[in-house]
Amino acid sequence: MANLLNTTLKHCYKPLFIGLIFLFSGAQQQQSAQWGFAGHQRINEFAVYLLPLELQHFFITHQHELIAQAVAPDQRRYIQEAEACRHYIDLDFYYKRGENPFWNLPQNWQAAKDCHAEDTLLAHGIVPWHVVNMKYRLQKAFEQKNLALILKNAAEIGHYIADAHVPLHTTQNYNGQLTNQYGIHGLWESRLVELEANNYNYWIGKATYLKSVQQTIWQAVAASHAALDSVFLFEKLCSAQIKEAEKYSFEQRGSVMTKVYSQKFCQAYHSKLNGMVERRMRAAILMVSSVWYTAWVDAGQPDMRQFNENDPLKIEAQEKDSLPVMLNRWKQRSCH
Ligand SMILES: [Zn+2]
Repeated sequence: MANLLNTTLKHCYKPLFIGLIFLFSGAQQQQSAQWGFAGHQRINEFAVYLLPLELQHFFITHQHELIAQAVAPDQRRYIQEAEACRHYIDLDFYYKRGENPFWNLPQNWQAAKDCHAEDTLLAHGIVPWHVVNMKYRLQKAFEQKNLALILKNAAEIGHYIADAHVPLHTTQNYNGQLTNQYGIHGLWESRLVELEANNYNYWIGKATYLKSVQQTIWQAVAASHAALDSVFLFEKLCSAQIKEAEKYSFEQRGSVMTKVYSQKFCQAYHSKLNGMVERRMRAAILMVSSVWYTAWVDAGQPDMRQFNENDPLKIEAQEKDSLPVMLNRWKQRSCH
């Protein structure tokens, strides 16, 4: 359990600051969060538009809740010890360099527990197994036609899927602390997103039915892990090319002057990554939408129009944003 506690703490970030105030230093980086608030919210927001019409109207109606709750799992990490391990997996704990990362790591949770002690699995993160668990929770909520649980589970599975698409969520060196690259976590998933995500292409296609959510989430984790060498290498190259004094700058955040990675450094790093952040974000959006759709199909495709009458949540949402207004906003954001 000591291991579990240490690992839980080491992966513990304070979401309220979300890579805005604490973007760079080792100790400070501990307080950043996955994808940043903005990244998580954007992923849930755009996943709605990939859904088929039978589902899309319902999800657009409740888009406010899906966006607002996108960061709830990070907020829970400080009051629930069991929460932290759901956001990552230290794949490199399970293999040596040159070996297949997955030869010793069953995708099925029970099989994994037969292979490794449960404490070990929890200590090194369970995000792919938890996504599968969350998919069944969402499916159950659809079966029960429980509006609150549908929204909660849909929003939160979006968070965990998004985390699984971040390369630095698949390694013990999650913040570059083992390679003298402190701060790389917030740099990759918060600072670059903050500076660049408005320029990404969000025409992604349509949600598809997933024959195996388990297989898809493990493929996502594998793709994230495969990108790690580039994540670390290019940061090293940029750090070697850009003087320390130009690597960081100060920006006003509210009433606080905050040290951040400079725009010059971020542009150089983002350019070397050659679209990686955008590709991972697009893949996350597609998978979130596809898992929502799959859970609904597996629940027997309940008619979502039943939620649309006399629904106070819907009425409130409609007062804030009508469907045409939201679609128009989406078009404006997506046309690049
Ligand atoms: Zn997270």
